[in-house]
Amino acid sequence: MIRFAILPLLLALNLSMCKKQQAVTDKPQPAGNAAPETAAATAAPVVAATPKIKKPVVDQTAQVLIFCYHRLVDKIRYPGTEITPAAFEAQMKELKDKGITVISMQDLLAWKRGEKNIPPRSAVVTFDDGWKSQYEVAWPILKKYGYPVTLFIYTEGVRGGALGGGEAITWEQLADMRDNGVDIQAHTATHQDLREGHSVMVIEDRKRSKKKLTGADYEKWVQNEVVGSKELLEQRLGIKVNCFAVPFGNYNEHVKELARNAGYEAMFTVYGQPITFTSPMDSIGRYAIEANKPKVFADAVNMIGASSGGGTAVAEVGSKDLTTQPADGDTVRTATPLIKANLSSVGQIEPGSVQMRVSGLGLVPANFDPKTGMVSYQVPQKLRDKTCTVIVSAKSDGKKVETHWTFGLEEATAASSPAAAPKK
Ligand SMILES: [Zn+2]
Repeated sequence: MIRFAILPLLLALNLSMCKKQQAVTDKPQPAGNAAPETAAATAAPVVAATPKIKKPVVDQTAQVLIFCYHRLVDKIRYPGTEITPAAFEAQMKELKDKGITVISMQDLLAWKRGEKNIPPRSAVVTFDDGWKSQYEVAWPILKKYGYPVTLFIYTEGVRGGALGGGEAITWEQLADMRDNGVDIQAHTATHQDLREGHSVMVIEDRKRSKKKLTGADYEKWVQNEVVGSKELLEQRLGIKVNCFAVPFGNYNEHVKELARNAGYEAMFTVYGQPITFTSPMDSIGRYAIEANKPKVFADAVNMIGASSGGGTAVAEVGSKDLTTQPADGDTVRTATPLIKANLSSVGQIEPGSVQMRVSGLGLVPANFDPKTGMVSYQVPQKLRDKTCTVIVSAKSDGKKVETHWTFGLEEATAASSPAAAPKK
């Protein structure tokens, strides 16, 4: 829930997810962290005083579904990784019909960095493992719809590699796709469980053997899986690889660290969930689409499709430029906060269209100053909940725009107790 003010600033510092969380807790505290009065007086300015960095306004309330496909075949033999071309095309069509915009992986990452806006309901299409049906069957369908696509390739599985058989995609096909804007990313070298302690298939001089690798032997092996595969793709195709799909979604902190150090910006699993602005970059869930589980796709679409009922009547605005007060994710030390947001960046606001809703209070008689674009409301009675969500909506250019944010209230829980907040 850290939006508007805090997160964009952190993003601007180009922090990794783990550092990001750390930085949030390391948020500057009032000097000495002393008496509550002091803290209350300085709590809001601490955030507001931080130097502002100009960044594009991105919709932090957008949601993204990421789909993971494998093979498209007419006759399903392995329903866990196959679907028919007809079923695939029907799904692509459904995304279009439901108003879900298919965006590129790099656009998703740019949005996560706060650099580029994406439509409020978006999807990313990915294919894993490198099958030739991805080139021959899936790609023409994707081109028909004008959809971008990302391929996660395990390098030994490309045709000619130790694990690349007749159904495998070729380097030439990958180069052709690259030339036409297909995003090609890493999925290890040999597609195995990357955690130490498992028996793995080792390829030496194209001969395969099962080995339980530990210590330095394991490190050498996993280094090649995580880093070597990235380097091979980059060198062979002359590309930059910044995404890593973990085989079977099996990894641990060590694997994550290796991937981070290798320069991967995002890591992907197969635990499907709508991706939000604050989803951690090292475990981005994708929906694995299988022939015998059509509900996975339907449920995913419903997850982000239900909210606006087939239309895009409401444009969600999420931006540090609204300089909300209290800031999103902030905690204030009063149960009667002054709530403010600056709508001037939204565009021309239609007079009388501004509404503010406050959790626990409902629609409140907020004040809107058309000159400054500032909407404000002084909460008159103590708020009872520990957190407060504010929803501000307005009409701009005939469209309804909406923003929401949440802040914490420290005093709220103690409000009813006469012995609250002992003063020193
Ligand atoms: Zn795979």
